[in-house]
This record gives sequence, structure tokens and C-alpha cells, in this order.
Amino acid sequence: MNASDTPLVVVGAGIMGAGIAQVAAQAGHPVHLHDVRPGAAAEACTRLRGTLEGLVAKGKLTSDVAAATLARITPIDQLQQAAGARIAIEAIVEDLATKRALFRDLEALLADDAILATNTSSISVTAIANGLKHPGRLVGMHFFNPVPLMKLVEVISGLHTDASVAEAVFDLAAAWGKVPVHARSTPGFIVNRIARPFYAEALALLHERAATPQQIDACLRAAGFRMGPCELMDLIGHDTNFAVTNSVYAAQFFDKRYMPSGVQRELVEGGLLGRKTGRGFYRYPEGPPALPVAVHEAPLTAREVVVHGRGAIADAIEAATTRALAAQGWGPARVADSGWTGLEVDHARLVLTDGRCAQDLAQAGGVAELVVFDRPLVWPAPGATSALAVAAAPGTSAAWREQAGRWLHALGFAPVPIADVPGLVVARTVAMLIDEAADAVLQGVCSEPGADAAMKLGVNYPAGPFEWLLAWSPAGVHGVLQALDAHHRGERYRTSAYLRRLMR
Ligand code: NAD
Repeated sequence: MNASDTPLVVVGAGIMGAGIAQVAAQAGHPVHLHDVRPGAAAEACTRLRGTLEGLVAKGKLTSDVAAATLARITPIDQLQQAAGARIAIEAIVEDLATKRALFRDLEALLADDAILATNTSSISVTAIANGLKHPGRLVGMHFFNPVPLMKLVEVISGLHTDASVAEAVFDLAAAWGKVPVHARSTPGFIVNRIARPFYAEALALLHERAATPQQIDACLRAAGFRMGPCELMDLIGHDTNFAVTNSVYAAQFFDKRYMPSGVQRELVEGGLLGRKTGRGFYRYPEGPPALPVAVHEAPLTAREVVVHGRGAIADAIEAATTRALAAQGWGPARVADSGWTGLEVDHARLVLTDGRCAQDLAQAGGVAELVVFDRPLVWPAPGATSALAVAAAPGTSAAWREQAGRWLHALGFAPVPIADVPGLVVARTVAMLIDEAADAVLQGVCSEPGADAAMKLGVNYPAGPFEWLLAWSPAGVHGVLQALDAHHRGERYRTSAYLRRLMR
């Protein structure tokens, strides 16, 4: 498809429509931009001119490209002026009846083989197509905000959508420099569905008073996420985030897995919507205060140190422990098949979470002195300290709590003590993200690589759920989910049949 010969109409000149028009015009398409509010399309063009001039001033765009892009976009107040368009992309209000009415108008106006695409973020593509004369040509083309910067486009097929139309839109997105990923029309599509536990597990920890927003954010940032869930919900706006959660929950027939949180509802009801109202979990413009971190720099003392477990984390613990003890002229022993991963120092334990609480691990191991630590997704570089949640079994002495902190510090971590809950912060969140992605693949929503690409490009995750799974194991993830399930009871923490299959 030659861009200059493929005129396009973008309907809705708001945040998304203006961005889509810009990207299409930059790729060479003649674009008509229409909005139901008279003058809105022209205003969007004026704003776009300002944006492009800013990019030229910063040297990110040549003035020729900026001028050519602007020249390709024609604002129109009458939809009929777009009659020659070969592709229509809709970015209007998120309302099924309004979208259906618009597509009926577009169908009457455009050629029979013109492609109709919707940028809906939550409405069923199958439902939008219902009632069209040629429903096979309607497809979802879900961009992310801000459109010119975000690489991901979810190409969503409903039951009616012709495979050739989905392919054509997939190729179109790729030609625009985007990374398209196929998805089936199901609630939340890929990103908005798989991301639910990132918020939900943080809200569950807050609901149980297990950790503070600062602690949760610090731990997930240290795991490689650009923002923690609490600061991110503050940025998105609790009203918007709560609405998406509610819509996915209702669309999934009130499956407990997607249940919204009373913690967030109270923020919404109180008008504490986040950055935009000056207060959410944090106050703005100040933003999250720094997390006070305990300093554990006293020298390590031990008669005997054993590294337990096998795999990359046990190896990293052994390497760091060996470095820490080298100055004293000795090193740790290693026991690979003890059934747990971590450090044993003079019979007191520092254990990598397998999902179980410290109390349960202490009971199962027949030891009193036990501190459990969260799963490190990235091992800190030597000399760095990275926040990591820890919890102590109730019988643990103050002396071992302090010692365990020193050992974690020697491994490169700043321990963040939280309540003794299953899976702490990162293991719990990531296990649920993997489980949700597994369910999405099970249900044919997307492929494994599709889920990974979507989460990395749509919400900037440091890795995709299946990449995390590769570094962990289906049985390990299942263990964390089982511990959460035993603790909470109910359907929320069930292991996806897809993961169970991988375990076999
Ligand atoms: P917006 O409110 O900024 O813009 C919507 C525009 O559509 C408005 O200018 C409005 O006047 C116009 N409009 C409403 N009804 C119309 C009609 N019948 N015909 C023509 N124009 C009409 O909204 P937005 O954030 O740009 O969202 C647009 C769509 O994109 C929604 O479906 C939304 O769910 C989806 N979306 C939004 C985001 C986001 O982050 N904002 C991300 C992905 C998808």
C-alpha cells in the first residue's frame, strides 16, 4: 500500500485522534481529520503545528518534514468531505452506540472495500461491527498514549473481522514504524488485561496494611519497573484506573480475579484522584517522598555460612557471599538440593520466597530464626543497593533480623521490612502478571511473544511475562499462587490451566 495514494480519515480530534493523524501524515498519507465539535479539528491542527515546531527547535525533526506533515492534514467539519478515504480510524468518545452510528455513516460514505478501524480501549470490536453491512472490514487498531511516542499497536480482531483486514492493518502499523501485535477482541485486549494485577496486588497489600505505597513502589522500581504501581495510579488518575478495572471486572462476569479494590474506590469517592487533583497516594507537586532505608554496614560475623539451592539466584548469592567473606579469608559452603534457596548463617536462615510466609517456612523447616526475602528480578550491580522486601517469622530474634539485614546489604540489597504476607511484593505481583498472561494465551487473546512485546511496549515493563517465566519456572510461579490462594481463599489466585500444562 503506497501511503501517498492511500487517503485516510481520522474521526475524533482529541488526544488520540490528533496523535494518529500526525503519525499517519508523517508516514505520507493524505489525512482528513474530523470532529463532531465544529472547529475542533482545526484547533487540533494548530496544536499539532506547535508540537512539530517544538520538535524542529529541538533538532528532532527537519522543518521540511514538519511542513510536509502539516500540509498533509486537512481539518474538516463535515464528514462527507472525506468520501475518498480508503481507511477510516475512529478515536471518538468511548460509547458503543455512538461508535456504531459513526461506522454506519462511514460505511454509507466510503467505498465497499475501505477499511474501518476503531481505537476503542475497552469496547468489544465484535459488538461495534454488529449491524454493519460489511462487518468483516471492521478491526481494532488500538494505539497507546502519546501516539507518536508509543510503539505498540494492538490489532484487534472481532468475530466478524476478516483475517485479510487484520493483516492489512498490521502491515499498515508496521509501515508507520509501530510494533503491531495481533489480539482477539476480549475485555482489556492484551495490555489493559495483563496489567490488572500490577495495580491489584499493590491495592491488596495496602488493603491488608502489609506495606506502604512508598515501600511497594520502591520494591517494584528496584525490580526494573519505571514507576511503582501507586505512583503510576496517581499519574493515570484513580478515576480512570478504577473505571478500567470495573469495566474489565464486569466484562469478565465479575470473576474475582479482576475485582476492584475498596482502597481505590475510597480515593475516587474522596476526589483524591492523583496528580491531577494534587493528592492521591502522594501529595503533588512534591510526589513520593524518598523511602527511609536502614543502613546495615557493620561487619559480617559468622562461624559457618551455607548457600542453599540451585539456579541463577543461588549462584548470584554464592558469588556475592564469596566476595563479602573474601576479606576474612574464607568462603561459603554450598548445598544444592536442600529444597530452598538462600543463606544459612550459623543455622539462622535468610530464605528466598517460594510464596509461603516466613511463619510457614520457619514451621516447615523447624527453625525459629528465619527471614524471607522477595524475588530479585534483576541482580544489583556490585556496589549498588536495591530495595527488596523482607519479612521475619514471629520467633525471629532482633539479633537475626539485624544480621539478616547486613547479609542482604552485602548481597546488594536494601531490605524493606513489610508484614509477613505470601509472595511479599515482587514475587506476588510478577506471579500474577505471568498467570494473567498465561490465561490470555490459553484463551487465544495473543501469543506468548505477542504478550511480551505488548507489555514491554505498551506499558514499558522491563521484561515480558514469558521472559520472566523463562528465568523462573512454571512450578515456582504456581507455588507463589498456591500460597496466595491458601492465604486468601477464593478464585482470585487460581493457576492458569496454561501454566499447569507447562508444569507437566
Ligand atoms: P478525547 O475526549 O480527547 O477526544 C474525543 C474526541 O472525539 C473529542 O474531540 C470529541 O469532540 C470527538 N467526538 C465525540 N463524538 C464524536 C462523533 N460522533 N464524531 C466525531 N467526533 C466525535 O478522547 P481520547 O482520549 O482521544 O479517546 C478517544 C478514543 O480513544 C476512545 O475510544 C478511547 O477509549 C480511546 N483511547 C484512549 C486512550 C487515552 O489514553 N486517552 C488510549 C487508547 C485508546
